[in-house]
Amino acid sequence: MSKPEETTAAAPAAGGAELQVPEGEIESNWESVIDNFDNMELTSELLRGVYAYGFERPSAIQARAVVPIIKGHDVIAQAQSGTGKTATFSIAILQRIDPAIKNVQALILAPTRELAQQIQKVVIALGDYMQIKCHACIGGTNVREDMAQLQDGVQVVVGTPGRVYDMINRRAFRTDALKMFCLDEADEMLSRGFKDQMYEVFQLLPQDTQVVLLSATMPSDVLEVTKKFMRDPVRILVKRDELTLEGIKQFYVAVEKEDWKLDTLCDLYETVTITQAVIFCNTRRKVDWLTDKLHEREFTVSAMHGDMDQQQREVIMREFRSGSSRVLITTDLLARGIDVQQVSLVINYDLPSDREKYIHRIGRGGRFGRKGVAINFVTEPDVRMLRDIEQFYSTVVEEMPLNVADLI
Ligand code: ADP
Repeated sequence: MSKPEETTAAAPAAGGAELQVPEGEIESNWESVIDNFDNMELTSELLRGVYAYGFERPSAIQARAVVPIIKGHDVIAQAQSGTGKTATFSIAILQRIDPAIKNVQALILAPTRELAQQIQKVVIALGDYMQIKCHACIGGTNVREDMAQLQDGVQVVVGTPGRVYDMINRRAFRTDALKMFCLDEADEMLSRGFKDQMYEVFQLLPQDTQVVLLSATMPSDVLEVTKKFMRDPVRILVKRDELTLEGIKQFYVAVEKEDWKLDTLCDLYETVTITQAVIFCNTRRKVDWLTDKLHEREFTVSAMHGDMDQQQREVIMREFRSGSSRVLITTDLLARGIDVQQVSLVINYDLPSDREKYIHRIGRGGRFGRKGVAINFVTEPDVRMLRDIEQFYSTVVEEMPLNVADLI
């Protein structure tokens, strides 16, 4: 890893031009596929954890990316959400760290607190038979407690950028023994809001830290950024075509006017509550508004967005995971990486503003090959966006049939 600012000035702008790959995708340069966990040379404790967690065979991205990460390469891994990226880096990290050393050896950053906590759970579960400690270092929690935990001998930290930066600065989080740095949802982490924070964290890490990036999409500007801090990375793409919009039935409901969406949703409510559903709006205000409207009509729904404090968010997420709340209204913030197994219906109350968001949202539905249904509310001005999505993902979004409930 090189320090970002050393190369910023010299970086040529046209760097990505030679890649003849579709926008948003990387080009693979690693062919090896190991489609059995037994052949990955994992320690017996880790292997036991993997099988005990219920995994039998590696997913496509695991079969390709776990081993190069273990070998110590910088790796960029791209695969759609729900295809096992979390376990990919978790397994590799667990193999690479030395449980006997009680210092932080791997740092994972994620864009939301919920996602960080979810990753922590996966690391702990897979590492169940190893003597390791994995700490979630996230905003909205008690700073002193966080510091105490870190000083108590932790090998893996998974966190959100702000708190992690703070902990490193306070020297509660010592980076001396750090050898791996992993960015989940890397496209989000390296674009807009997070980019500067990411650079700040990078500056504080040892020069030779291995960097691993995972994401469902890789826009070229993000890829450009990676050149600044990755050394000759292994690039692995599990193609969009091999990925699963397949297994997710996508429908639209033509609502013509915005005002009609609410009634449309209420008509669908019974269908929606057959399983668990996530309803996406484009703004936090809309989430609040829609929640109020549905409550007024005595429908039971929960809502969650980034304006809520951490405790509130946790309670809502717990209720939704446990199934005690069945309908969750939220924004794109939560579309990323949240793995709620039961969700088989996603409703885009608002069509997302770009196609990457579409895959992140719909990715909630058919997790790991399970089937799912997505329903898009489409007003007149949305029609173009929907066509664009269909074209980009080579997929067909049909008009919602009357018997949609039978398909869920
Ligand atoms: P991503 O990080 O790509 O969004 P996750 O790692 O959250 O995907 O995986 C999605 C779901 O698939 C999770 O419920 C996870 O437990 C499950 N899963 C991942 N890898 C495997 C595997 N090898 N075998 C069975 N299930 C798996």
